[in-house]
Amino acid sequence: MNRVYMDYNATTPVRDEVLRAMMPFFQERFGNASSVHTFGQEARVPLEEAREQVASLIGARPGDVYFTSGGTESDNAAIKGVARANRHRGNHIITSSIEHSAVMNSCRYLENEGFSVTYLPVDRQGLVGVDQVAEAISAETILISIMHANNEIGTIQPIKRIGALAADHGISFHTDAVQSAGKIEIDVETSATDLLSLSAHKMYGPKGVGALYVRKGTAFEPTAHGGHHEKNMRSGTENTAGIIGMGLAAMLAERELSSETAHLNHLRNRLENGIAERIEDVVVNGHPGQRLSGTLNVSFSGAEGDSLILSLDLKGVAVSSGSACTSGSIEASHVLLAMGLDPRTALSSLRFSLGRENTESDVDYVLECLPEVVGRLRGISASVS
Ligand code: PLP
Repeated sequence: MNRVYMDYNATTPVRDEVLRAMMPFFQERFGNASSVHTFGQEARVPLEEAREQVASLIGARPGDVYFTSGGTESDNAAIKGVARANRHRGNHIITSSIEHSAVMNSCRYLENEGFSVTYLPVDRQGLVGVDQVAEAISAETILISIMHANNEIGTIQPIKRIGALAADHGISFHTDAVQSAGKIEIDVETSATDLLSLSAHKMYGPKGVGALYVRKGTAFEPTAHGGHHEKNMRSGTENTAGIIGMGLAAMLAERELSSETAHLNHLRNRLENGIAERIEDVVVNGHPGQRLSGTLNVSFSGAEGDSLILSLDLKGVAVSSGSACTSGSIEASHVLLAMGLDPRTALSSLRFSLGRENTESDVDYVLECLPEVVGRLRGISASVS
């Protein structure tokens, strides 16, 4: 049976060269990067090189990059860190209604600490309105957190304009760049970004390692206290192997950004056009142009998304949906609902996220399987309704 993985927004395999670069740091170069002896320095030097590689991917100073355990920790640290450090200045946070749960739930948590949060709506294509950000700003606003690219629909937000707006008002601006890093250009200077979250496993690096950029001078209260690692911003012995892997993955992503974008655009268009030609009554969700090259979210009305996933899985095809199983029932994606899709249509949606290993024949295999699977599930749902 063919096996086709089209869920790269969920996670990516570690690249061979990344894995090879990591291996020595589990055994012969196992030293603690905080140790002063040679074993420690053998870890410290490459760790600092990795910091430079990650910084280069986002146009930052290496000294402003702090390693974490991944995107979730970076988002939590950024939002709680800025909010708590600015409590004396105000208690208002602005974010969007389509953020990843790491941002969303950090904000919700802060509401219990007395912060007030505006969750901005988005338009039908998943875009946050810059005017709406401006209107939401009050004298109490201390943080704006708007993601760079959305994980479910791929829509890319106008972070340059939002960052400039935040800077004009002296408000810290955080962006979750977990899905965009290595896929589109990022420059923390031109986007006036004060904090930015990254995760290695979305760019062919290992799981459980990420980074948080914090612009020098940003008021920030660390959430992890301990042995003063990462200049006291995030205590905990550094995951040397993971960080070295992340550094190389970032370097390779930066180097291959334009060729990879062309590859993914080509495959995504082939898939998108192929679906439109073969299957009736489909809607593509997300912005047609301002969208990550490898992401395609489609509603197949009348067919249930999770059944589509299972049926495709039986044919060896891995895709996903944004729906979540909560207390036994399936809830539609909060992103698609925020875009104005009705719950039934939202529940009939699939996310195809392509990556560097995908080929035209992968796309063609998916196009071969999909019409039959969608047709069968539409038939079942029509017969029970
Ligand atoms: N932010 C976004 C936009 C994501 O897509 C993800 C992962 O899916 C995360 C944050 C969380 O990253 P991690 O899996 O490294 O915790």
